[in-house]
Amino acid sequence: MTTGSDALFARARAVTPGGVNSPVRAFNAVGGTPRFIASAQGPWLTDVDGNTYVDLICSWGPMLLGHAHPAVVAAVNEAVARGTSYGTPTENEVALVEAIVARTPVEQLRLVSSGTEATMSAIRLARGFTGRDVVVKFAGCYHGHVDSLLASAGSGLTTFSLPGTPGVPASSTELTLVLPYNDPDAVRAAFAEHGDRIACLITEAAPGNMGVVPPAQVDGRSFNAFLAETCRAHGALFVSDEVMTGFRVSASGQWGTDGAHEGWVPDLVTFGKVMGGGFPAAAFGGRADVMAHLAPEGPVYQAGTLSGNPVATAAGLATLTAATDEVYARLDVVADALRAGAAEAFTAAGVPHVIQSTGSMFSVFLTEDPVHDFAGAQRTDTAAYGAFFHAMLDAGVHLPPSAFEAWFVSASHDDRAVEQVLDALPAAARAAARAATG
Ligand code: PLP
Repeated sequence: MTTGSDALFARARAVTPGGVNSPVRAFNAVGGTPRFIASAQGPWLTDVDGNTYVDLICSWGPMLLGHAHPAVVAAVNEAVARGTSYGTPTENEVALVEAIVARTPVEQLRLVSSGTEATMSAIRLARGFTGRDVVVKFAGCYHGHVDSLLASAGSGLTTFSLPGTPGVPASSTELTLVLPYNDPDAVRAAFAEHGDRIACLITEAAPGNMGVVPPAQVDGRSFNAFLAETCRAHGALFVSDEVMTGFRVSASGQWGTDGAHEGWVPDLVTFGKVMGGGFPAAAFGGRADVMAHLAPEGPVYQAGTLSGNPVATAAGLATLTAATDEVYARLDVVADALRAGAAEAFTAAGVPHVIQSTGSMFSVFLTEDPVHDFAGAQRTDTAAYGAFFHAMLDAGVHLPPSAFEAWFVSASHDDRAVEQVLDALPAAARAAARAATG
C-alpha cells in the first residue's frame, strides 16, 4: 500500500516542481510514485505507509555507517544542545579538517556546505592561482550543478562546449572542454591545442554518476596518474572530485586505491557526502601554496554563512571517527555478496549485464559490454532496469531510481538485510528479462 506516499506526492507537486527537491528522487526514470520516508534505522527505510525497505541509496553516499548510528546521533544531540550556528570559528571545524588532512593527500582544507560549492570554489581557486581560464572535464562526470560544469561536448574533441541545460548561458561553458572519459588520446589532443590556457582538469576520482566506471590503466598506471602528469607538464592543476568516493571506497578515498601506491597527489581535491555524516558539509583542499591564494590569506574570494556548521561538523567528525577498518571490511563483504547475487540472478534470467566497481561502490549496467565512458553507459537497457527496480521495490529493496547510479551499501547492512536483497533478485531479474528491449 502506498496511499500515504501517493497523497504526499500530490501535495508536494502542487507546491514544489516535480514534487521533489532534487530531480532523481522523482522516479521519472523508472515511473511510479516516490516513497516518502518517515524514518530510517541502520540499513532500513520505513515509508509513511509503514513499508520497510533495505536501503541501497544510503542518501546517495553519505550514510557509510547506516542510518541513525548511535555515535553520530549522540554527537549531533550534544552539538545541537550547544547551539546550532555561531558564525565564528569552532574547535570541531579544526578537528574535522585535521581528520581529513590525516586521511588524504590534502595539506589545507576549506569547509563548505555542498559538493557543488566545493567544485565551484575549487575551479575558481584554480583559475585564480594559474591566471588561466579554461577548464577540462569529462562527459558523464557530474560535479554538482555548477554552471560552467553543466556542459555538453562540442562538435570536436578539442572544441569548446555547449550549455548542458537551459539557463546556463553559452558564455558560462565557452571556456569548458568536455572530453570522453578514459581516453588518453583525447586528453593529449586537448592539452596539445589549449595547454597554455588550461587552468585545471577536473574529474570524478572514479566516476559514479554515469554508473561506476573505474579509471582505466594507461601505460601501466592509472588514468588518474596519467591526468596528474599531463596537468603538471602543462602547468595546469589536477582537481580530483572525491565527493562520492571520499571516505567511502577506502578511508582515503579513491586516491587510497591508486595515487597512494603510484606516488602522485592531486593539486586540489573536493569532498562531500560521507564527511558530513548526513548533514550539509563538504570541502575543497590540496596543496598549501595553492590554498594560500584563498581569502582571507590570498585574493581569491570564497565564503559561506553556514560553512563549518557546528552540528554538521559534529556529525562528520563522529562518522569519520567511527569509520574503522572493520567498517570498510564489512562494506566489502556486503558489496561482494550483492554483486555475486545480482550476477547470478541476471545470468539465470538471460539478461546481459556488466557489474562494475570501485571498492564497495558498484553499479549494474544492463548491457553486453564493459563500460569505459558515457557513450558506453548510455547503452544500458533503461526499460529493463525500470522493471527490475520496481520488482525490487515491491520485494522491499530500495535501489537508486535510475539505471545510471551507483548502488551504495553501509556497514550496518547485516545478514538479514543482505538476505532480503538476495531473495528479491531472481524474480526481479526475470522481470527485467521480460521488459528488455534488446
Ligand atoms: N561531485 C560529485 C562526484 C558528486 O557525486 C556530487 C553529487 O552527487 C557532487 C559533486 C555535488 O554534490 P552536492 O549534491 O552535495 O552539491
